[in-house]
Amino acid sequence: MRINKYQFVHQMGALLSQSRDGWDGLGRVSALIVEKARCDAAAMYTMNEERTAFALMAQSGLSSQDYAEGKVFPIKGGVLDLLCKGHSMHLSREREVQSLYGGVYKVVLMIPLIAGGRVMGRIDLLRKRHRPFMEKTIEFFMEVFPPLSVFIVNATLAHREPDKPELFLGAQQKKQEEEQRDDRPIRGRALSSGVACGKVILMSSVEDLLGVKRIPSPVNTTLAAIESEKLLLDKALETARRACLRSISDLEQTLSEADVNIFSMHAMMMDDPTLRQSLTKSLEDGHDITTALGLALRSFTAQYSKIEDSYLRERIYDIKDVLLAIKNAADNLRGINNNVNDLNKLLDVKHIVIVARELLPSQLIAFPIKKITGILCEEGGATSHVAILARALCVPMLVGIPGITKVVMPGESVLLDCHSSGAFGGKCFLRPSLQLVRRFAEPLHVTREQQGLPRKDAVRPVKRTFTKDGTEIKFQGNISLVCELPALQHYGVGEVGLYRTEFLFMLRPNLPSEEEQYEMYKQILDGAKGAPVTLRVLDAGGDKPLPYFRRDKEGNPALGLRGMRFLFHYREQILIPHLRALLRASAHGKIRIMFPMIADLPDLLEARKALAEAQKQLRHEGKTFDNAIPVGVMLEIPSAVRGVRKLLPHVDFLSIGSNDLVQFMFAVDRGNPQVSQWCRKCHPIILHLIRDVCRAVAEFPGKQLSICGEVGSSRRALPLLIGAGLRSFSMMPSRVPLLQKMVPELEVGECEKLLDEVLEQCVSEDDIQAYLEKKGILR
Ligand code: PEP
Ligand code: MG
Repeated sequence: MRINKYQFVHQMGALLSQSRDGWDGLGRVSALIVEKARCDAAAMYTMNEERTAFALMAQSGLSSQDYAEGKVFPIKGGVLDLLCKGHSMHLSREREVQSLYGGVYKVVLMIPLIAGGRVMGRIDLLRKRHRPFMEKTIEFFMEVFPPLSVFIVNATLAHREPDKPELFLGAQQKKQEEEQRDDRPIRGRALSSGVACGKVILMSSVEDLLGVKRIPSPVNTTLAAIESEKLLLDKALETARRACLRSISDLEQTLSEADVNIFSMHAMMMDDPTLRQSLTKSLEDGHDITTALGLALRSFTAQYSKIEDSYLRERIYDIKDVLLAIKNAADNLRGINNNVNDLNKLLDVKHIVIVARELLPSQLIAFPIKKITGILCEEGGATSHVAILARALCVPMLVGIPGITKVVMPGESVLLDCHSSGAFGGKCFLRPSLQLVRRFAEPLHVTREQQGLPRKDAVRPVKRTFTKDGTEIKFQGNISLVCELPALQHYGVGEVGLYRTEFLFMLRPNLPSEEEQYEMYKQILDGAKGAPVTLRVLDAGGDKPLPYFRRDKEGNPALGLRGMRFLFHYREQILIPHLRALLRASAHGKIRIMFPMIADLPDLLEARKALAEAQKQLRHEGKTFDNAIPVGVMLEIPSAVRGVRKLLPHVDFLSIGSNDLVQFMFAVDRGNPQVSQWCRKCHPIILHLIRDVCRAVAEFPGKQLSICGEVGSSRRALPLLIGAGLRSFSMMPSRVPLLQKMVPELEVGECEKLLDEVLEQCVSEDDIQAYLEKKGILR
């Protein structure tokens, strides 16, 4: 053994820090031990609380029959006593060794793992030949293992119920452990409601690959380790390719807005021998898969940056997606391999829960959509577009759980409860017990049923809703995807108050052509069966980046080139073809066109000028469109709200975009959970503004006003918004029946009085809540 103990400890540390997770790291350390100790296998065990059995955590070199699932490792008598006292055990008597590992091994060296003065596990070094370990080898490992013990303690704490050791416990013990699970909830913020239970798939972001800036030192120094990494690469490529192909068939049925061709292209790239060769070469140099992928990305980026043609140059983003998909598959396979010893399990699980730091819609749809039953993110806001997509697809989503990606393992079970805890509450349970899953059996069942429901139901007649005093309150639906139309009709909602066109742009790799856009809007109108649809002009930029439109990073994107500003910047390339497609769709149904992010009158006039230009072109080409399409704007920038009287003569309707209005009024990033307490939607200041807008609109007969931001779907806000003067609300379709139910109980005069009192007496959202509760309005 040539290296000294400091070098060895350093190597162990490097392996652990470069590993995807604790279990993977321990597996690599085991391989290092095998190499250094010149033995045939190494196995790491933790000891159970009762100090009666050991459970295998990681190993290298053991054959599968040595550690078959369910095998218990009870220890008793002298061996246990000595280990617990911190002594190493050197067993070479056939009977002793056989009782532990069958007949394969002749010598076992057991070294206790001690942390905080307590023995919490052991490492066994095994030899097949009868060659005992030398005294200095035993001393060496007795000295280098304490730092490893500390790491194992941390890993065990992070993985409260590590699945892997559990696999090696007997049925009786499993049952006991099952009974002892405490099912502690982890609280987060529910952004899409429902209850879900599924197996974890971990997603990293492309930044994790970009981290490989310089060539790190090799981590796989044995031939066996290199071979196992190559095997994993093969499986990861195959799994990622299968995922791509499944995405195609899934998306074709579910998301008309997505472009499936991109996934065929990605699948082909995964088959590319050049890519495979370059990755294999890095693995043979001793790098792990993540480093190999990072190096490949580095080299592709250098090559592509020299390409003159911008379209071809931009293909680097596809390469990034492909490399990331391979990394995700490898990470998950590694974890799943640790847990269930079956690499093919990754895509075969029925219900998956995506766990990520943060997600983009394009990343979400790279997984078979039908299998996604839940989403768990460290970051993300209620109005982020992945949240909107999750709601549209009826997938429960929980965010605001920092570090969640570090404490779950791929393949583990997780239960999400975004149902019972009110608007912003929500929780998840890692590795839930059977009892807990049974407790949620009903909502789990209902959620699945609900997902199928809208597809089956026929269109219902639009229900009209009146207050006690006979004032009509109108409800419309906010949708982002064609697949939401059946749900809209299922809930009896007649009109689409907001169709967010940006999903069509965000769920594909290239700018959709005018023709592609036209086909999609036509589909929406066909699906709406004659009901009016408000098509919002593309609101890209800010928190809705277009994946293929990489621009210089903006320091403050919410206040940057977004909405109409973005479109004015790309007038000929994006705005005019987009408006032409919208106008042409009007030949197939009743549409209204709405401009987002209008700041003042010059913005509105500029937008109208572009619309007139698109109309002129179509007329010139003899293309049919409705000449009298109502035109409106979103009121979502405070300057537009303040200057609403200047805008009104130039529009047919206005819609209050309270999501952005709150963001800009309170200077609070709507997607940042760290400041979510400042995202005050039902705040007296906002209610005041809305009342002012209603009063201004009332001065302009014939002009229509509605609200399509989230506060409009709040039960608490409804009487106050009616009191402010709103009569039309557009929201997520499933919320409509809840609010409709409240309307016949309300009386406009009382609502107005209530709002007056609230504005007089309350200075915060909490005040409003307390006031309404005191009045018996919210119980
Ligand atoms: C809003 O800002 O309130 C709105 C409805 O639009 P979006 O959430 O898409 O920005
Ligand atoms: Mg908005």
